[in-house]
Amino acid sequence: MLAFILILIAIIVVALLLFWPRSIKSKPMPVAWQQLLQQHVHFYRQLSVADQQLFQKRVMIFLQYVHIHPVKTTLTDLDRVLIGSSAIIPIWGFPHWHYYNLQHILLYPNAFEENTFQLEGLNRDVLGMVGSGTLNQIMILSQQALRDGFMNENTKSNTGIHEFVHLLDKADGATDGIPESLLAKPYVLPWIQFMHQTIQEMQAGHSDINIYGATNQAEFLAVVSEYFFTQPQLFQQHHPQLYALLQQIFHQDPAQATGMALRVPQWH
Ligand SMILES: [Zn+2]
Repeated sequence: MLAFILILIAIIVVALLLFWPRSIKSKPMPVAWQQLLQQHVHFYRQLSVADQQLFQKRVMIFLQYVHIHPVKTTLTDLDRVLIGSSAIIPIWGFPHWHYYNLQHILLYPNAFEENTFQLEGLNRDVLGMVGSGTLNQIMILSQQALRDGFMNENTKSNTGIHEFVHLLDKADGATDGIPESLLAKPYVLPWIQFMHQTIQEMQAGHSDINIYGATNQAEFLAVVSEYFFTQPQLFQQHHPQLYALLQQIFHQDPAQATGMALRVPQWH
């Protein structure tokens, strides 16, 4: 009995150490980094001054607890800022979100082969991935794809955001396109139904959503999220119902961002 109580106490202590919300103090963001945000991150430019300061703080906190390792490339301040932005944009509506399921990011210069992470060879088609099994807690990103997602203002693609949405999806234990940890219960069924309907439209060639999103539910969520955050007005115009559902998932309304007012994220 005593042993049982001791084990129980040990489990509680470990759980508290792991999950207790840490009050992390962030260093102020260097001015040069703030300029990089202004120059390259459209989402940031749309925010009010107060929200921009909050965004900087959240990026700095994120970069304190996640380690970025360049592989056969050089890690620049621009990469740090873009990775931090990719992480914060999807969780902007959740002020206390912490990526417990991520510790390391490997930054490869270009696309890599999925199973071996080789940089050479014919099958260099993967731009980013979230690890599982022995690669749990690890994300791999292509530096070129990361930059392309922010530098090209007309694109509907953003590899960084795509991979962080996979992590959010994975937070409930299953990367299945149904982010139960974000989506209030009444919206789960409508989300699944609408997801399948849209995948069918995509397969029939009746959609402007990247066909890669029709691969499976997880890729669907990641791909439509890229579109939602990079071209919110266009996405809302072309896919109003899907837009409304993603609004519920992310607790955000990026199409309405005016940069004039401090928008208070809503909680459900
Ligand atoms: Zn994916």
